[in-house]
Formats: sequence, structure tokens, C-alpha cells
Amino acid sequence: MTSTSYDYIIVGAGTAGLSLAVRLAQSEASVLVLEAGVDTTAVQEIQVPGLFIKNIGHPDRDWAFFSKPQAHANNREVFLPRGKGIGGSSTLNFMQWNRASSWEYDAMESFGMEGWNWKNMLHYFKKSEIVIASNDLQEATMLKLDPSAHGTSGPIIVSPPTQISDVHLPFLKGFEELGFPVNQDSSDGDNLGTWTGLVSIDPAKVTRSSCASAYLTVKTSLSRLEILTGAQVMRIAFAEDSVTGGLAVAEGVEFTRDGTTQMVTASKEVIVCAGAYQTPQILELSGIGDKHLLNEHGIETVVDLPGVGRNLRT
Ligand SMILES: Cc1cc2nc3c(=O)[nH]c(=O)nc-3n(C[C@H](O)[C@H](O)[C@H](O)COP(=O)(O)OP(=O)(O)OC[C@H]3O[C@@H](n4cnc5c(N)ncnc54)[C@H](O)[C@@H]3O)c2cc1C
Repeated sequence: MTSTSYDYIIVGAGTAGLSLAVRLAQSEASVLVLEAGVDTTAVQEIQVPGLFIKNIGHPDRDWAFFSKPQAHANNREVFLPRGKGIGGSSTLNFMQWNRASSWEYDAMESFGMEGWNWKNMLHYFKKSEIVIASNDLQEATMLKLDPSAHGTSGPIIVSPPTQISDVHLPFLKGFEELGFPVNQDSSDGDNLGTWTGLVSIDPAKVTRSSCASAYLTVKTSLSRLEILTGAQVMRIAFAEDSVTGGLAVAEGVEFTRDGTTQMVTASKEVIVCAGAYQTPQILELSGIGDKHLLNEHGIETVVDLPGVGRNLRT
């Protein structure tokens, strides 16, 4: 870390955090990314798609959470893998590169999220990817990609799967005979039907195209972006007068690294991208959550927001 203050501090170097960090740094902002895990980018088992299973449960690559006993699953504690290290869950995931249908994105806007609609999202979907699809695979995959729905110069390398099982085509054709036409490009705003999914794999090297492999390549040209590994964020620090004034303003974060606690401040924003399980955890540790729960754990409430950490669906 070369400074104690940055324009933006991003918590988590995963799919959201890393891509956002690079885009912000491209706009000349100074950006610090704090990542609890280590740099796993050179690990072969992450790079080679067929070895993906070796990463699940690995202590350096997976937080390997377990749920509480689930009443509706015979009280089982369900295993919940979650990527750790630069690239986050994009280094651990199954590389399926899918999009929802246009009406699902449009529904977000109708729920009040202004600008979150298919048309706007499509712009960023395209910006994120470069699709490399050889015509040779068309017959085996029944894919016919719509060029207007795909990117040609983004950092994530996307391709049709090259390993296709013998049952794949008969499966698609069987459904066709039953009256369900094959969807030749499920990424164009309509993903209904049967289809061959694209994957985030570089077909030339047959390696995983993770957020790390993709965005770190862009990072090399960005001197105002720093990534600190082994830095576990413990809480968001709020400007004191803002808390007493009723509108809490984040001014930095507290994190631990090599056994010491450090503080770093942000002149513009603190952005928490610690994933679906740990983002709410950090909010709660910072005093944003259900005040009764926070009281139980001796955490002073900054914002009473009972929805934090609830309603998770996996
Ligand atoms: C096993 C598995 C298979 C999946 N398969 C697919 C698939 O095939 N296709 C698909 O589209 N999606 C898949 N997903 C989902 C997809 O990978 C995730 O939705 C996506 O990566 C989440 O991005 P994120 O930025 O929210 O979180 P993450 O990418 O998980 O990033 C969060 C980062 O924050 C860090 N962090 C957490 N707490 C702290 C802290 N306190 N301080 C500092 N850093 C912290 C973590 O170490 C991590 O690096 C899969 C996920 C898993 C786990």
C-alpha cells in the first residue's frame, strides 16, 4: 500500500470488485482493493478447466462455508463454497457464461432500480466479453450466435464448449421432436428452451478466463490501481459527525494484515464487494443491520436495517 488515502476503496477482489476497480482506475481515479485471500492466479488447478473440482474446499481458494442446520433439509448443514483470493468466485466457479432473459432484467427496473434494464445491461455484457466461436462447432452445439448480442473486445474470453458429450445433440434433438425448438443463442434476451451454454474458457489455451486472468491484464497499464492481498476488512469506518447527524457517511475501512490492524481512508467511496455472504457480514460488523441482532453481539447500531443478512436464496 503506497498511501493511507485513495479515491475509492473496494473490499474484495472478486468478480464485482476487480472489474469495478479496473473500470474506475481507467477513469484516472486512485483505487485500492483489499482482498482477504492470497494471489492464486498462477495456480494450475484454477487455470485448467477440467481440474475445477480440486479447488472446491481448498483452504487457500475456498472459504468453504457451511449453513446453519436447515430445518427443511433434514437439519443438514449445507456446504456453501465461495471463492477466496484474487478473482474471488470466478476462480472457483463452473465457467458457465449465461444471461437471464430480457424481461428479468427489465423487472429489476420495474422494482425501482432505475437504469437496471436489458438495454443498459446488454451494453455492459458486451463490454465484458470477447466471444471466440469457431464455425466448426455449429453442428455439434446447434449454436448460431447473434453478433449484435455479443462483445468482440472485452477482457473475458468466452467460447462454446469444445468437449461435447455424445448425448448432447440427441438430447437437443429429442426436445425438438417434442415441440421445444432449440434456442440458437440464449444470450440474446430470450433464454427459454434448450440450448448449449457458452463457457468462460480461452479456446486457444484451454484455460479458465476468470475475472483475475481477464482484468489483471488490463491492470498492468493502470498505475493508480493497487491490490493488497491478505487484507481482511473488519469494518467500515464512518465519519463521526455523520453518524450523530443521522446520515452515516463511510470514510474508510479497518482491516487486519499480518496480525496488525490498519486503517485506510477514501475521499470518494467505500465499495463493499465481498460477495453474497460476506458483504452483509461486513455491514453488520460495521453497525448496519437489525439493531436487536447487533445488540446481542455488542455492536453499536449505526443504521437499523433489518433486511441485512436475511432472505438469502441459493
Ligand atoms: C462453486 C461455484 C460454482 C459457480 N458456478 C458458476 C457458473 O458456472 N457460472 C456463473 O455465472 N456463476 C457461477 N457461480 C457464481 C459466480 O461465480 C458468483 O456469483 C460471482 O463470482 C460472485 O461475484 P462477487 O464479486 O459478488 O463475489 P466473489 O467473486 O465471491 O468475490 C468476493 C471476494 O471478497 C473477498 N472477501 C470476502 N470477505 C472479505 C473481507 N472481509 N475482506 C476482504 N476481502 C473479502 C473474497 O475472498 C472474494 O475474493 C459459481 C459460484 C460457486 C461458488
